[in-house]
Amino acid sequence: MSKYFNSKYSQMKAYTPGEQPKNMDYIKLNTNESPYPPSQSVIKAITKQEVEDLRLYPDPTGENLKEALASLYKVKAENVYIANGSDDILNFAFMAYGGDGRKAVFPEISYGFYQVFADLNSVEYVKLPLKDDFSIDIRDYCNLKDLIIIANPNAPTGICLGLSEIEKILKTNKNSVIVIDEAYVDFGAESAVPLTTIYDNLLVVQTFSKSRSMAGARLGFAIGNSELINDLEMLKYSTNPYNVNRLSMVAGIAAVESNAYYVEKCKEIINTRDYTSKELNELGFDVLPSKANFLFAKSNDIGGKELYLKLKERGILIRHFDNSKICEYNRITIGTKKQMETMIKMIKEILR
Ligand code: PMP
Repeated sequence: MSKYFNSKYSQMKAYTPGEQPKNMDYIKLNTNESPYPPSQSVIKAITKQEVEDLRLYPDPTGENLKEALASLYKVKAENVYIANGSDDILNFAFMAYGGDGRKAVFPEISYGFYQVFADLNSVEYVKLPLKDDFSIDIRDYCNLKDLIIIANPNAPTGICLGLSEIEKILKTNKNSVIVIDEAYVDFGAESAVPLTTIYDNLLVVQTFSKSRSMAGARLGFAIGNSELINDLEMLKYSTNPYNVNRLSMVAGIAAVESNAYYVEKCKEIINTRDYTSKELNELGFDVLPSKANFLFAKSNDIGGKELYLKLKERGILIRHFDNSKICEYNRITIGTKKQMETMIKMIKEILR
């Protein structure tokens, strides 16, 4: 850190993304990417002309992509915000709706970036413990006056809340914004998007990184009341009006228009998740009930860190968190059936 760095950031602990080692060709099950490529329409959409047009700035309004998303999610374009990955939107949510006497409230075990965004934006935060079974106790989130952020399904547990539970939180929190981070919603949970037409303080955040196989394109979106969307637009025009690049915009539209392909791929991932969960159970693991494209699992025979390291030696990367409450667990992204069969084979070898 240089001596010039603003002291307000000097104590900050940045987010640590999942490792991306280059020393060998790993089976990568550590960052919840999709094992499948984007649809053929996306691949065809990136034409020579689109590449040549990179000399031009993208459309700062993102109108075409917003229209496509609005039509898919049965809302209006004015209810849609798009950004360079959903992390950008979450950051803006802390910037826009934290502070001013409002803390940020989120589960103790959840997406590690929430705390970082709170620190970055000098928003005080409260991390609420999960129940013993790692589920969220929604009673803790009722009648607050604070910004609430809940990943649904939660990460890294994969456990989801039902819409009626989310609605209970909304009904008892009329004076602050509720952010539902639906990064993994397409793998079996119910989206809160329909509730955005009823509750003007609900912001639903989604991403193209997981179910739409485009983590590398950096594309996220939010759906909510048009006033919330305008708040985010205001912050965007105050930081980076061209926050979505031309190629990602074109790819995003093609992805939305070929939605059926992704629905199919999500079904495959769900089937592979069920297969993997069953196999891990048979090997004596405790596996949390996941509605995401990953499993959170603990062996009763080998420590979490040891399993992570032994799989890494064998060319398989999974995610281990150095947090005493969850260090016996690992988060395993669901890859192709073949990749998961290989992982199960390796685990059997390790346990032998
Ligand atoms: N929310 C959750 C819960 C996540 O796990 C992730 C991915 N790390 C994100 C948001 C951010 O996704 P992206 O910025 O790729 O859209």
